[in-house]
Amino acid sequence: MSQTRDDNPLDLLREDLRDFAGYKSARSDKRSGRVWLNANEAAWPSVADCDGAVRRYPDPQPPALRDALARLYGCAPEQLLAGRGSDEGIDLLVRAFCRPGGDAIVIAPPTFGMYAVSARLHGARVVEVPLRDCAEGFVCDFDALAEAAEREAAKLVFVCSPGNPSGTLLPLASIDALAQRLSGRAIVVVDEAYIEFADGESAVSLLRRRRNVAVLRTLSKAHALAAARIGSTIADAGVVAALQRCQAPYPLPTPCVNLTLRALGEVPGNTTKARVATAMCERDTLFQALQGLPGVRRVYPSQANFLLLRFDDAQAALDALLDAGVVVRDFRHAPGLDDALRISLGTPEQNAAVIEVLGRALRASAAVATGAAA
Ligand SMILES: *Cc1c(COP(=O)(O)O)cnc(C)c1O
Repeated sequence: MSQTRDDNPLDLLREDLRDFAGYKSARSDKRSGRVWLNANEAAWPSVADCDGAVRRYPDPQPPALRDALARLYGCAPEQLLAGRGSDEGIDLLVRAFCRPGGDAIVIAPPTFGMYAVSARLHGARVVEVPLRDCAEGFVCDFDALAEAAEREAAKLVFVCSPGNPSGTLLPLASIDALAQRLSGRAIVVVDEAYIEFADGESAVSLLRRRRNVAVLRTLSKAHALAAARIGSTIADAGVVAALQRCQAPYPLPTPCVNLTLRALGEVPGNTTKARVATAMCERDTLFQALQGLPGVRRVYPSQANFLLLRFDDAQAALDALLDAGVVVRDFRHAPGLDDALRISLGTPEQNAAVIEVLGRALRASAAVATGAAA
């Protein structure tokens, strides 16, 4: 596929930031030295730091981490920016591409809340193109997304696949076509926080022909490292370099980097694969069990590690779970989801408890209802 000059995603960066160099940290000095006295660090390690790993400021993008993540996600190291969760990737994209007070992002609600939060904090407009609630689950209207992006001259279009909380995996061909249509006009950001649980290919493969695609990946869900805060933005190498200039000087704490390298380094991906396989089995079990319960209006099909449900009486379901010490996510505040709860998959024991508690509570209230009607 030929690239024209118009395809260059760097032309979409905020004009006022195009020659912005960012902060020159002490670690960006690449000279070789034996004695480093350029960053006002302590000369001796802390008592809490037995191996002295934490005394000095860290490399902003440790090459070993970048290599390991690039291998994991199937891209080149220079196409990947590691940061404090994919939340930071969202924020960097908004800051680098949207002029405050002017530019817009497009989102497809119900969706992950941080796109709108980052946009609002930055003073960017948020344009909503709701998912359609269909028999097969939530469906994304790609034409409407593209039209909204064109109409509003939006800089970023966020699609979440699989969606949170929709659970829907978006067709890669549709994402590809969207990126093609918006080439030279907007970046299509594909948030794949749950792709490990899905039966589908990552949008990372689109980067070979679509320079205006950015993919967000995270170690917080399938990889069980939420507190390490390691997320990746995978994009055109020029975009990655531009995002890094907007990033904090030392975004990756060394203890988190070392923990991540241990997690990714051993038997490659083995325990993650096992956790994901168990979650996918559990998802089927929970789906079947909850779908059959009285008072459950709908269980949405899910390609992620949670289920979204609608109830006749969501408050009663929430109360029953809370009485049993089980906390789930209340979505009743979200437009169109005023009867909905989202339940994350737990261990098989925890999922069995959810089925048991909800089964008991919902059958009891169904019995009361039929008793009252009789
Ligand atoms: C959990 C979640 C994230 C946040 O991931 P971090 O890497 O922990 O910041 C991003 N996107 C979606 C859709 C999520 O559900």
